[in-house]
Amino acid sequence: MDRLTKQQRSSNMAAIHGKDTKPEMVVRKWLWGHGFRYRLNHPRLPGKPDIVMRKYRTCIFVNGCFWHGHGVAMPPVESLKLKVESSECCKIPKTNRDFWVAKIQRNQERDARVQHELAAMGWHSITIWECELKPKVREKTLESLGFTLNKIFLQDRTIKRYEIPEEEPMMAAEDVSTEYGNKAT
Ligand SMILES: [Zn+2]
Repeated sequence: MDRLTKQQRSSNMAAIHGKDTKPEMVVRKWLWGHGFRYRLNHPRLPGKPDIVMRKYRTCIFVNGCFWHGHGVAMPPVESLKLKVESSECCKIPKTNRDFWVAKIQRNQERDARVQHELAAMGWHSITIWECELKPKVREKTLESLGFTLNKIFLQDRTIKRYEIPEEEPMMAAEDVSTEYGNKAT
């Protein structure tokens, strides 16, 4: 059952795919209003995250439920793809079903890869789903986002895992001066 008309769907998709999509604006406004600072679409981080918070070493992705297949489980085997089922907030169109399933699967795989890469670089990823920003649940979602950010901040301060001690000797007798740009002389 395709409940949306063609026109509704295309405007929906434009809204979800655009740069300043409404759900993302909701998150940004809330963050800013609560004193959290960020930058947008950082070009040098994997996946060009929507919102980048350096201080928290955290990237926030605001995902459209349809495009990113919120709650849609993809079977590991290609031949089982026909069994992919829609979820509450991601209704896969009946027409061109294979196309949409493949598209959603690619997006899911990409999301996973990006988060993996970010984690390897010591960055946290937070995904906020469009459906979690509906008026009824919005405040709760955003409050828990703020809570998570503060928790991350505190944890990272305690662990301090990104810094290399300055006096650490090199593994071998390498020429240290080039490595550090002759800082010592
Ligand atoms: Zn959703």
